[in-house]
Order: sequence, then C-alpha cells, then structure tokens
Amino acid sequence: MALVNEHYLKLQSSYLFSDIAKKINTFKVTHPNKEIIRMGIGDVTQPLAPAVITAMHKAVDDLAARETFRGYGPEQGYSFLVDAIIKNDYTARGITIEPSEVFVSDGAKSDTGNIGDILRHDNSIGVTDPVYPVYIDSNVMAGRTGTMENGRWSNIVYIPCTAENDFVPDLPSRRIDMLYLCYPNNPTGTTLSKKELKKWVDYAIANDVLILYDAAYEAYIQDDDIPHSIYEIKGAKKVAIEFRSFSKTAGFTGVRCAFTVIPKELNGFSLTGEKASLNRLWNRRHTTKFNGTSYITQRGAEAIYTPEGKVQVKATIDYYMTNARIMKAGLQECNLKVYGGDNAPYLWVKTPNGITSWKFFDMLLYELSIVGTPGVGFGPSGEGYLRLTAFGSREDTQEAMSRLKSWAK
Ligand code: PLP
Repeated sequence: MALVNEHYLKLQSSYLFSDIAKKINTFKVTHPNKEIIRMGIGDVTQPLAPAVITAMHKAVDDLAARETFRGYGPEQGYSFLVDAIIKNDYTARGITIEPSEVFVSDGAKSDTGNIGDILRHDNSIGVTDPVYPVYIDSNVMAGRTGTMENGRWSNIVYIPCTAENDFVPDLPSRRIDMLYLCYPNNPTGTTLSKKELKKWVDYAIANDVLILYDAAYEAYIQDDDIPHSIYEIKGAKKVAIEFRSFSKTAGFTGVRCAFTVIPKELNGFSLTGEKASLNRLWNRRHTTKFNGTSYITQRGAEAIYTPEGKVQVKATIDYYMTNARIMKAGLQECNLKVYGGDNAPYLWVKTPNGITSWKFFDMLLYELSIVGTPGVGFGPSGEGYLRLTAFGSREDTQEAMSRLKSWAK
C-alpha cells in the first residue's frame, strides 16, 4: 500500500486561476457576444526577440550535424550562457559571481518551488503578504506550514504590504528562519529601494535568516535607486539566494529558462549547528533531479545578451511599460487608487468603496468584460485590491481603459 504525502491533502483544493477560469467560462456562456479583455494572468503576449529566434534556429542546425550535435549538457547550464549571465547581470553592476554559483534551470517557478528540498521541514517561514502563491503551496507540500487557521498557516509569518505601510514590509515580530522576498513584487507591482532592502539584509545577517529573493521582474525596473539584484547590498551573499527568469525578461514563458544564484559563502546549518554550504546541497539536488535546460533554449537565452538582443528585449519591455503607464493614468482618471506599475508590469488597484476583491472582479467582468485577478487570492492582505497586468496588446490596453473611463462617467 502506497501511503501518500499527507501534506498534499492540506492544499487548498482549487487554485486561484482555475476559479477565475470557471467564472470567465460562465460569463462567456451567458454573454456570448462580449469581447473579453484579459488582464488577469501574468503571461506575456509579444513574440520572442528576432535575435533569440535566429540563435535558436542556428542551435537547431547545430543538432543536425554530427560535429556540432549536443546531447546531455552540464546540469548547471552551458558555460556560454552562465558566462553571459555573470558578465551582463552581475559584473556590469559591480557584483562578483563565480560560474559555479549559477544554476540554469527550466523556470523560477520550479526553482522557488524546489529550493525547500535542501531545507529542513521545521524551519519557520516569512512571506510578504500578498504573495506569489508558489512560495506558500510548495511549503505546504513539504509539511513546513503547520495548520490552517482563519485563512493563515500557523507556521508562516505573514508580513503585510498594504497602502497603509506604503507596501514596505516591516521586520517581523516573530522569529523566522527563511524569508521570501519578491521585488519588483508580484502581485503589487511595488519595489524596495536599496535602503529598504538593506534593512532586510542586515536583519538576515543579524538573525541568521535565509532570504529567498525572487527577482523575476528585475528587467522592468526603471528607477536608478531600485536594486536589480539583492547582491547589490553589502553582505547579501552571506544570506541570500537569488532567483531570476527569462520568462518576463525576454518572453520565455513558453520556452522555459531561468537561473538561480547560490553564493559559495552562503551557509545553512545542521541540527548540531555545523555550517553546510547551500551551494553544495543545491548542486547535489540539481544534478540528481534535473538533466539540464535544452541546448536550443540556452542558445536563445544567450542571445538576449548580444548587442542586438539587448535592444530588442528592451523594446518589448518598453512596450509593456508603456501599457502600464497608460493603465495607471487611465485608472487614476477613473478616481481609482492604483499602486505599482512604475517599475513592474503589475498594477495593484484598490477596490472602490471598500468592496471585496471578488466583488470588484465580478463588477469588471460583468459590466466591462475586463478580467483582473482578485487580490485576496494572493493572501489575506490582498483583500480589497485587484491585480491588473500590463502584458496585453496596446489595442486591448487602450480599449480596456476606454471602457473603464466611460463606465466611471
Ligand atoms: N516568480 C514570480 C514572482 C512570478 O510571478 C513568476 C511567474 O509568473 C515566476 C516566478 C515563474 O517564473 P518562470 O516562468 O521562470 O517559472
């Protein structure tokens, strides 16, 4: 008899986006002639950069000839990609990272979800609230979250990020061992300045806290004072793992490529207090359970660092950020309070007149045929907000704003 991992039975049975999909389907059946504009799920819509396409075509040709054929590659990623990552994402910002500290993978979702494999089941966890749901659910699966009481897990410290604290999380009042930070933030679209992030790094150093820093949206940062990497903060290599992704940077949501940086100087501890290199443990895990990102994909990722690749990728990000500006201005014109959207492709809209997230979701769907994501789906502090994404086409973005403006009148 195979016994199951009982922690899986504790997971909330339905996932936020499937609830939304059900609501959209019902709406479609009852309103077959309405044109729905989707600003809910955070997927990109613009095609890959031409430099990426050319590199991937060439990589396919490499596989067609015996001399250039590649089979299994290094699990941690080909050196051509790792070197390009280090040179462009780290050295260029004055950060020293060694090739053996970079692990190329098939996604930041897998990496943020799997990192718990190398950490004990009874570590306590801190998350900023609202939060990217993967951090919570992957810890539920590992049995690390305790019991669910009033919509909160007992072994998770929820650190509220709301308009009241300007979306800057306060240091937790309870001891935590692992802390998830995501900046620029999904879902709120807000950021931390270097000074604000330094507060957390200093706290982690003083209290032996491991920071799991998800920088999947760093490419959207426009302001100079906002750190692209946590390693821009002194001492962060002693306390932080950084997750990056090509998904939103370069439209790789379907192609799949990401990387995780685990500095050699970062340690966890055994129960008896001995230091254990997290880089070594993750290397062991990665080489055992993962067989590398495809050669074609890695060649495509490498191409975003070429001069033409950089220009093309930036043009797409500028396109989405122009959408974000159009949306922010449009929402404000409708007298809605809106946060984020300046350094991130997400806008976090306060619901009008204190209505719930789901009520506002229904209202936008049924009155304007616009789909957002109810903020409460990202955690208790998300109640009273709705997330809109700037990843749509320009036409849809403009149409959505014009519907909103006529509605507001
Ligand atoms: N981290 C955050 C904060 C995200 O919002 C997402 C995707 O939406 C991911 C990670 C997943 O990235 P990937 O496509 O690399 O798995």
